[in-house]
Amino acid sequence: MFNWFVDLIFPYRCIGCGKYLDKKYLCQPCFNALPIKKQNECVGCHRPTPLGKTCTFCRDQYVLDQLLVVSDFKNHTIASLIRLFKYRFLPDLADPLSRLSFKYLDHLAKRDYFSMVQGNPLLVAVPLYKTREYWRGFNQAELLAQSIARHYRLEVGTGLIRTAHGTPQAKLEDRPERLSNVRGLFACVNSELFRGRSIILVDDVCTTGATLNECARILKDSGAVHVMGLAMARG
Ligand SMILES: [Zn+2]
Ligand SMILES: [Zn+2]
Repeated sequence: MFNWFVDLIFPYRCIGCGKYLDKKYLCQPCFNALPIKKQNECVGCHRPTPLGKTCTFCRDQYVLDQLLVVSDFKNHTIASLIRLFKYRFLPDLADPLSRLSFKYLDHLAKRDYFSMVQGNPLLVAVPLYKTREYWRGFNQAELLAQSIARHYRLEVGTGLIRTAHGTPQAKLEDRPERLSNVRGLFACVNSELFRGRSIILVDDVCTTGATLNECARILKDSGAVHVMGLAMARG
């Protein structure tokens, strides 16, 4: 019933060019045309830094050590992919999005000698509030984390949970307000898992970085030694 409904509302057509496809939403030429981000930036001040490391000036406000952003929201196809994935319940879109992240990470591996598997990191998805996940049927960040983990043969860690909603970040103007708005929204239920580990925190979209930063804070309180954010785009 649900599949029939999805078919009716979202027939398999390419999100990029509109061509009818067989059980997918993005044709190969449109996938090939998706941009990957060439410059990485500090989460706080957006200045370019090597591999998106948090700069020394932003260190006192941000706990997140590093942020990698795969692509660019300004690209129309990327924006549509992420919106449809997030708001229209199309779990199939985890496939092109995670393949794009492999392309980006391979590019970093070649250019900057970056390694996804160094230190055997644990992949953790930014959690949704439970009722929201039930309503949607899946957590889009978790689908991405699972797919990336499979590709690099890494482990996915569950145990970071969301305990409340909070005001939508977009409504808040300044940085201190945004950073404190997310305080207390997350908790760890399985601290042992995170102790002494390097964490790659996965989300579909990063806006101010406040959510990733708060998750990083909770993870470090549970003993994580390094937390890197990985987002598909920055909105
Ligand atoms: Zn196409
Ligand atoms: Zn900075």
